[in-house]
Amino acid sequence: MTTVLVVNSGSSSLKYQLLDDAEQVLASGLVERIGGAGSIRHRGPGGEVTVDADVPDHRAALALMMRTCTEHGPQLAPDVVGHRVVHGGARFSAPVVVDDEVEAAVEELATLAPLHNPPGLLGIRAARATFPGVPQVAVFDTAFHATIPPEASTYAIDAGLAAERGIRRYGFHGTSHEYVSQEAARFLGHAGRFVVLHLGNGASACAVSGGRSVATSMGLTPLEGLVMGTRGGDLDPGALLHLLRTGMSVDEVDTLLNRRSGLAGLTGTGDLRDVLAAAEGGDERAELALDVYAHRIRGYVGAYLAHLGGLDALVFTAGVGENSPEVRARVVEGLGHLGPTLDPARNEARGRGARLVSPDDAAVPVLVVPTDEELQIARHALAVTAG
Ligand code: AMP
Repeated sequence: MTTVLVVNSGSSSLKYQLLDDAEQVLASGLVERIGGAGSIRHRGPGGEVTVDADVPDHRAALALMMRTCTEHGPQLAPDVVGHRVVHGGARFSAPVVVDDEVEAAVEELATLAPLHNPPGLLGIRAARATFPGVPQVAVFDTAFHATIPPEASTYAIDAGLAAERGIRRYGFHGTSHEYVSQEAARFLGHAGRFVVLHLGNGASACAVSGGRSVATSMGLTPLEGLVMGTRGGDLDPGALLHLLRTGMSVDEVDTLLNRRSGLAGLTGTGDLRDVLAAAEGGDERAELALDVYAHRIRGYVGAYLAHLGGLDALVFTAGVGENSPEVRARVVEGLGHLGPTLDPARNEARGRGARLVSPDDAAVPVLVVPTDEELQIARHALAVTAG
């Protein structure tokens, strides 16, 4: 039996999952508060355990994972380790086996993704040290979007400067968009023209045609596009110039864009459940925030329908997309003339796998497809090492 360990490393947390080649999850867990007094929550064959431990760094996090597996099972001897890496830049359009040169390239790309690539790199380094001789595969969030045509990836700024500094649309959430569009194609029996809405803490839309990404809402960085938990998405760049000229520092603008915008900026909370509850209670700011959120999404669906030349399915995924019938209703409401409609009972019903939430005779089916980035990373890691 071949086993794959998937590592998704954040700055202070590390998620892991151990899968076999039949795609069964043998163990999963989360190490939190790396950098000090941390803890691990581990789910193995014997159920779930939580253990507090000192976790000074990512290597210690992997050591804690190993110890917990030894004590509570399963035995951990992966044949390959797959890593989530956020930014692959122009260089990485497919998963790769990590060597020193790839590691250096990922480090260089940190200039484009200063918040996201460094933690991925810490995970890679820790895993290379912990599992010497085991192939490590980097799977990039940007890679699925390498098929976006130039007219959709080019920003209309000074072309020489853009080329020199690598300024173009890369797109993110690619592993999720790829997995979800494949599952949607399996569910429907054909890979047609889909718009996938990944609505989680981060959020992005992706137009997928015949299994390939042809447009996506995130850009050079994960700041562009839809309204998110703490990021506002599309914004007139003139607003940034205005803020910088009127006394804000670059760091303050960075914090504004990454943490004080989106639902959090509009309402004080970035958690959509709280925004929905506030709106329910008559809070006008929350109501406006939900309107802005849905309005932006509908704009992207309309644009992508035009780019795709039609639509064969609208697909919702991630925390909000999978779990909130109300948000799905707010988005799809008003799209009926373009084809997507909801069946209210199907939309409200809870379910596990991929499911239809539109009527059987809808001109454009609307699906909910739970995302599984870990499984997709495992598939890539196995495919790369088998080939
Ligand atoms: P993710 O980043 O995919 O884990 O999604 C996190 C987001 O999903 C948070 O903003 C949560 O508020 C949201 N979420 C999770 N469950 C629900 C739910 N039942 N209704 C609305 N939003 C939800």
